[in-house]
Amino acid sequence: MQFFNTLSNKLESFKPSDPNHLKMYVCGPTVYDRPHLGNARSIVVYDLFFRFFSQVFPQVTFVRNITDVDDKINAAALEQKISIQQLTENIIELFYQDIGALNVLRPTFEPRATTHIAEMIAMIERLIKNGFAYESAGHVLFDVAAYKNYGQLSNRTLDEMIAGARVEVASYKKNPLDFVLWKPAAANDDVSSVFDSPWSKGRPGWHIECSAMSSKYLGENFDIHGGGADLQFPHHENEIAQSCCANPGSTYASFWIHNGFLTVNGEKMSKSLKNFITVKDLLDKEVSGVVIRYLLLSTHYRKPFDFNQKALDDARKSVEKFYSLFTAADLKSYVRNDFNNELMTEVLAELASDLNVSRVFALLHEKVKEAKNGNSDLKAQFLQTLDFLGLFDANFLDAKNSVDIDENYVNAQIELRAKAKAEKNWALSDKIRDDLLKMGIVIKDSKEKTTWELL
Ligand SMILES: [Zn+2]
Repeated sequence: MQFFNTLSNKLESFKPSDPNHLKMYVCGPTVYDRPHLGNARSIVVYDLFFRFFSQVFPQVTFVRNITDVDDKINAAALEQKISIQQLTENIIELFYQDIGALNVLRPTFEPRATTHIAEMIAMIERLIKNGFAYESAGHVLFDVAAYKNYGQLSNRTLDEMIAGARVEVASYKKNPLDFVLWKPAAANDDVSSVFDSPWSKGRPGWHIECSAMSSKYLGENFDIHGGGADLQFPHHENEIAQSCCANPGSTYASFWIHNGFLTVNGEKMSKSLKNFITVKDLLDKEVSGVVIRYLLLSTHYRKPFDFNQKALDDARKSVEKFYSLFTAADLKSYVRNDFNNELMTEVLAELASDLNVSRVFALLHEKVKEAKNGNSDLKAQFLQTLDFLGLFDANFLDAKNSVDIDENYVNAQIELRAKAKAEKNWALSDKIRDDLLKMGIVIKDSKEKTTWELL
């Protein structure tokens, strides 16, 4: 099994430190807005990692946190004139709805930052005691100059980091790169975002949340840490610094996996460019969740992914091609088994090679032909494989029919066909029947009248 480790910047063979128990942490959502396609790509990619690992290792513990205390949350709650708690509860519910439509599994643990403040304070206290953090004007800051290995993940020197990053210069910092572990609350902050601490009433910095919550659920050392490439610096760099300095001797995560950026029509997605697309936007346009999932997985996870209409159309066609193997009844009567079959063996082998989903999809396209030629065992394996990949939707064919079929159009076509038959224009009447069949509509002729039903 091989994956690309950002820490060594190369493909490495991978084995969990306990061969029976893989431990993985992935940075989860900051819940101030519904997930956009960039968020969804990251969620879907690590969901597939989780599904894959669950299939090949006896036990997998997967932790994905929820950041429910953050400056962006405070700003959004203030703007909407609702409490922070109202906002975060609301967004968390919508988050589950949106990613649920993409068949994303629930991780083993989903710790929320606001219920782990005590663990964060304890970690900050250890950092101060170990000489890696200092208190200044109600803030606590990580002292970057005190940690020699800072920059190991992004492979940059301190000077390069200061030059390249938009680091905030502030009077209370010794060094511009020093980052916040704790910050005091502002006077008008909502009470649900203000916590007591030895330094000030305030809230934790974002980076310390992940360090504290990962060590609580996975221990000081664990196998894989994942997240979007945009988190590599400074977020992940800072997580390493905090965890290794608070827990001397710890190496934190052995493997760092990062998924690539998402663009829209070749441009960075942003609200100001008005090309900001959420999962909900696509679902509202009747795009099926499994089509969105296929689309987000169709580019290798490390490469940049460009969202555009053609990519969406191609994804829809591919998923429709897969589902052309089945009837609505096949889907309704589907029973999940242990995913242990020949096709799955081939799929797992491809995924073991740095999660090569493109090869998996190419393999499925090859197998469609074979399965269409009456190989019913392969058809059954195909459906199990779609389910394993999170691409199974028992209602996929129903949804397609209900969207595509206009009854008035069908009735008009049937009238046209009756006229063609009366005129003995058999070529036209057959063509109308075949065209309707392609749409999944079966015509039934009886002596009295012609009726139709869905395939
Ligand atoms: Zn994180």
